[in-house]
Amino acid sequence: MNLLEVKNLNTSFKIGVGTVQAVRGVSFHVKEAESIGIVGESGSGKSVTMLSVMGLLPNYATITADSLLFDGKELTKMTPKELRALHGSDIGMIFQDPMTSLNPLFTVQNQLMEPLRIHQHMNRAQAKARALELLKLVEIPDPEARLKQYPHEFSGGMRQRVMIAIAIACNPKMVIADEPTTALDVTIQAQILDLLNHLKREMNTSIIMITHDLGVIASMCSRILVMYGGIICEEGTAREIFYDARHPYTWGLLNSIPKIHGDPNEKLIPIHGTPPDMLMPPKGCPFAPRCEYCMPVCREYMPPRTVLNETHAVTCHLMHPKAPKVTREV
Ligand code: SF4
Repeated sequence: MNLLEVKNLNTSFKIGVGTVQAVRGVSFHVKEAESIGIVGESGSGKSVTMLSVMGLLPNYATITADSLLFDGKELTKMTPKELRALHGSDIGMIFQDPMTSLNPLFTVQNQLMEPLRIHQHMNRAQAKARALELLKLVEIPDPEARLKQYPHEFSGGMRQRVMIAIAIACNPKMVIADEPTTALDVTIQAQILDLLNHLKREMNTSIIMITHDLGVIASMCSRILVMYGGIICEEGTAREIFYDARHPYTWGLLNSIPKIHGDPNEKLIPIHGTPPDMLMPPKGCPFAPRCEYCMPVCREYMPPRTVLNETHAVTCHLMHPKAPKVTREV
């Protein structure tokens, strides 16, 4: 059963020089207890998509959607108060930099207790006991002593564990993790991913992992959405994206990550060029200016979404039966 269903989401921002079209006609779903990854480079629209769903964008954003259905409730019809009640209770969020999300003036205990008191209506003693349980769950050593400390007394990895504990405090149905490991060292990154994987199995929570790094979601997500220029350019199971990708941008992402068993001297191939200016997105395919397979039709018309099977879909003119046959060189 679908926990989240997003249909035809469009988000734009009015700024002094014009309108930034950040998200254009995005549709996807997340099933109960499923983990999906949204991958793309900065400015592709991946974070804005989820902030739009959560209603967490500033006033100068315009969001339209045919439907944003979460757990059977239509989010577009909710008041800001109802949406706030959903955040922290049914939906937890983990951000890239825990230092900007944690309040430096309050102890970790206070920050863990707050959602429990507000959303679960626990008394002080119950909330304190649950806060301790949560720190143990995210494997913070010496949790009794750590509860009384302030965020600056924690390392980056430990702060991220605290953020995860806050996000899962009320047993949410869905957790959105926006670049949760980007600010961390590689070894700490692996520990945080292990922890998220462990919690996913223990708590049966759906996870939406937003990242620019395909490697990060390889071990976590059963399905992947690849975003570019505000659209979903390819979506499929992890196997389809890693072993049978069909979109030139996905090929570019795959070519730019190192292979574990590859030649150590092998050069990684970057994607040349820069992302499109979303104040004036290209008329046709947003990837056209950087695509080595670009055809005249690509510059004129937005490619249609071609469904290859019930999990795999690609938005590229190369999927047209009359397009030249090209495959990824590995
Ligand atoms: Fe490249 Fe054309 Fe496909 Fe866009 S539609 S990715 S420009 S081949």
